[in-house]
Amino acid sequence: MSVKVRFAPSPTGKLHVGNVRTALVNWLFAKGQGGQFVLRIDDTDLARSTPEFEQGIEDDLRWLGLVWDERHNQSKRFDRYEAAAEALKAAGRLYPAYETADELDRRRKVQLSRGLPPIYDRAALELTPEQKAAYEAEGRRPHWRFKLDGRRVAWEDLSRGHAEVDTASMSDPVLIREDGLFLYTLPSVVDDLDMAISHVIRGEDHVTNTGAQIEIFEALIAGGWGGALPGFAHMPLLVGADGQALSKRLGSLSISDMRDQGYEPIAITSHLGRIGTSDPLEIAASVEALGQTFAFSKMGRSPARYDTADLDRLNAQALHALSYEQAQPRLAQAGADLGEAFWETVRPNLTKFDDVAEMARIVRGPIAPVIEDADFIAAALRLLPETVDQDVWSTWTAAIKAETGAKGKALFMPLRLALTGQAHGPDMAAMAPLIGRETMARRLQGEAA
Ligand code: GLU
Repeated sequence: MSVKVRFAPSPTGKLHVGNVRTALVNWLFAKGQGGQFVLRIDDTDLARSTPEFEQGIEDDLRWLGLVWDERHNQSKRFDRYEAAAEALKAAGRLYPAYETADELDRRRKVQLSRGLPPIYDRAALELTPEQKAAYEAEGRRPHWRFKLDGRRVAWEDLSRGHAEVDTASMSDPVLIREDGLFLYTLPSVVDDLDMAISHVIRGEDHVTNTGAQIEIFEALIAGGWGGALPGFAHMPLLVGADGQALSKRLGSLSISDMRDQGYEPIAITSHLGRIGTSDPLEIAASVEALGQTFAFSKMGRSPARYDTADLDRLNAQALHALSYEQAQPRLAQAGADLGEAFWETVRPNLTKFDDVAEMARIVRGPIAPVIEDADFIAAALRLLPETVDQDVWSTWTAAIKAETGAKGKALFMPLRLALTGQAHGPDMAAMAPLIGRETMARRLQGEAA
């Protein structure tokens, strides 16, 4: 069987790390199996979907390297959903119901007060043609419910193993709202059949849904609709560093914000592709390489921990792995291309690429030297050799030590503060020749050079 998966976001908001993990795992699984990845825009809700969010989704996926082989919009496929609804009506599986939200709410409260599960009681199935006509005459429009079999629906889940949902414990799902809007449940099944989706991979918040959707798949297939029931994988959800569910905080973790904050796409994909798996949380060479090692068998049942500290560490790793050739166009764009020696020197200190601008400023100046002990710095200036090259730092600092008696931090920190204006930064031995003797001397005299 050829592998074909889909990522099906609704263009009603920005992609966040939770969506992207789903997209990524679909992509990794497909590419690892030589399969295809479909981008399906779930835009049946025309009122809430916008072209800007749709564009944002595409931009984010491309930026992450998750290119798609096929792309669809649900809003262009309403005729297929109408046809499926007609087929289900003909099979007696889709029935009209006229209750208002208030009426349903009241009934649920009564059930709960009696200690009963708040499941839809199927009163609509008992309506006579006259009662329906009376509702219609009142101006009520029906919503349409799928009549569940009420059985144990079982499947072998790629991520969870044997899975079961008892559809007898569920309300018959509403597939079409009174205003004619197709809710997500039916279009998703129709598309998965029509597009020959082999595996539906999504978060474990969809497990119950899957029970109902498998019944819909089977009803359509039994009625002669082409296609086959796909396999399923439901991934454990993301939790934050504190172990709490991330769902409520996801809105603030948009991919476009992370791009603006300077995260590397490979850091994001390495992080999201490896948390919750047995693979070490290390940077991958590429998203393709990540696909070669991905396997559902490595994914545990415990939640995946999304920790910004891990992401930051991976981001630094990604930068430290960049060669000068790879970095050069970006250095040039940042106005910080001071050559290969500069890149080699500052690279180990980068946490975000844009830090290079500040490091270039330290080399080029002007910086404000920080001098606390004027006598010490005066001695350092006097001892500064005529030529500043790669090896000068150790001979120079040894000479300062011999004259002043300072050692360790007391020796190096005043020099760093005077020469860079900062307490932290790249290796001074490598920075010194980049800054150059003349600028060093000026800074040691307290000049903003
Ligand atoms: N649009 C649905 C969602 O974002 C798709 C779920 C699915 O993958 O079936 O939740």
